[in-house]
Amino acid sequence: MLQTIQITIAPQLAADAESHKLAVASALGCLPADLLGYHIEKQSLDARSRQALLHQTIVAAVGEPYHGREKISFQPVGIHDAEKPVVIAGAGPAGLFAALHLLEQGIKPIILERGKDVRQRRRDLALLNKSGILNPESNYCFGEGGAGTYSDGKLYTRSHKRGNIMRVLQLLHYFGADERILYEAHPHIGTNKLPHIIVSMREAIVAAGGEIRFDTRLTDIIIKNDSVAGVVTAQGYTIDCGQLVLATGHSARDIFYLLHAKGIAIEAKPFALGVRVEHPQEMIDAARYHCERRPEWLPPAAYSLVQQVGGKGVFSFCMCPGGIIAPAATSPNELVVNGWSPSRRNNPFANSGLVVEVSHADIVQEKGKLMHDMQLKASDLEGPLAFLHFQQWVERNCFAAGGGNFKAPAQRISDFVAGKASQTLPDCSYQPGVVPADLKTVLPAFVHERLREGLRIFNTKIKGYSSEAGIMVATESRTSSPVRVPRNPDTLEHIALKGLYPCAEGAGYAGGIVSAAMDGEKVAAQLAKMRA
Ligand SMILES: Cc1cc2nc3c(=O)[nH]c(=O)nc-3n(C[C@H](O)[C@H](O)[C@H](O)COP(=O)(O)OP(=O)(O)OC[C@H]3O[C@@H](n4cnc5c(N)ncnc54)[C@H](O)[C@@H]3O)c2cc1C
Repeated sequence: MLQTIQITIAPQLAADAESHKLAVASALGCLPADLLGYHIEKQSLDARSRQALLHQTIVAAVGEPYHGREKISFQPVGIHDAEKPVVIAGAGPAGLFAALHLLEQGIKPIILERGKDVRQRRRDLALLNKSGILNPESNYCFGEGGAGTYSDGKLYTRSHKRGNIMRVLQLLHYFGADERILYEAHPHIGTNKLPHIIVSMREAIVAAGGEIRFDTRLTDIIIKNDSVAGVVTAQGYTIDCGQLVLATGHSARDIFYLLHAKGIAIEAKPFALGVRVEHPQEMIDAARYHCERRPEWLPPAAYSLVQQVGGKGVFSFCMCPGGIIAPAATSPNELVVNGWSPSRRNNPFANSGLVVEVSHADIVQEKGKLMHDMQLKASDLEGPLAFLHFQQWVERNCFAAGGGNFKAPAQRISDFVAGKASQTLPDCSYQPGVVPADLKTVLPAFVHERLREGLRIFNTKIKGYSSEAGIMVATESRTSSPVRVPRNPDTLEHIALKGLYPCAEGAGYAGGIVSAAMDGEKVAAQLAKMRA
């Protein structure tokens, strides 16, 4: 029988295959020659003391054949369900995993994706980064693989459904991700590797009988007898379908407007907003690893910070060691930043979102300016699009403060904390460029006041965090959806419109790649059950 043991080992020893095997054999109390094979089941890094340590769970075969780690593969069964196809709007992680699951149940999915395929999308990103020209249909949020394709590819989730998490990780591995994602406590794929994985998924979906239509935006839902009867595309053609998976992500504002205009219930949903901060990676490494220079066997250091300030959470979000700050807007006059890193995390900067929770009371505080600038009525700020209007307002202010072409308003962290404008800025990875600005005049007061206090406290947790070496870039505003599309918790259908399946991040049921993929699978499984 396979044996499971826990070991604790220095990373430099674990990096050497022979030393690692000796350590495993010694922990098992067997001769290395009797250890016929093993794999790491779980691994976490503890860098709290000077000597960092890896905690590993090992599954080993002693004196018996070793067959390797158990693996899951994609297993389509051939389309045998003669009913109308299921339409999936959005080819993000949720839409792709929903399609894979339907194909394993013999149901044909047709995925409509407003953006372009991975390859063409890369050209649009290059144009945005180099020339500040945005394609509203093909950008960091829209296109094949959704916001996940050119994301950082961190695969952690707060969900505790381990079986479902493992299935998503196993499928990502099956489609090309490194085996390490199956056992690391904080798995990461990296932006350079994700596009290949997404293309493999598309090829498998198409080979199994599914369809993906790029450059095809869903513009309307046809409703008959309170049920979905079909969809309309921007090209003007319709598709008959009784089931629509709405997996359009948190940036598809036109979808939220469409649902609202059609009287399909949606709800306002609080989110968080702030800036992206960036520091030299060496500084974060030195603080986290208690050393002058990070040894080669340790990964570029990450951090996670959280603090209550004035009754609200101020927290780091989507931290990217060795990363790049990216322009993640979807409209020409709005500025949004996010972050990514390559698989080796070998850029010289560490970036992270630093955001403050937004509540309805905060929006009400900003009511006068918000209504004036966005030409809204007071009732708009009481309705389901209230947080969306607020988000858009801040993004527009940031775009204007940057002076156009997606140049971003930025400030040295030390100046921001001291309440003075920056004369110069440190080097920054944000490719469209940063311009010095007083972020106090760009961000709402409840955000900048709490960020300032939060930064003072974070400086005591990570040495140099609020020093002149750090820069903050506005605005990090797409942390989660500003709208929820309510669904019945049992059937997963919309509470009033039969056949509509609100799914994943855009509908308010996921946050991040893994939870979006899990929700895609969950919706597809429920939908298949309804057809059975
Ligand atoms: C730069 C960046 C870095 C990130 N890093 C991480 C990370 O490290 N880890 C992590 O877990 N998450 C990360 N995220 C977030 C993650 O990508 C999202 O949480 C995830 O992709 C959400 O999945 P989804 O399928 O719900 O929606 P999305 O990925 O947003 O996909 C929605 C899709 O729907 C399409 N669509 C929208 N409207 C329509 C329409 N009307 N018709 C047809 N198609 C439409 C869009 O084009 C898009 O492709 C990052 C995001 C960005 C932008």
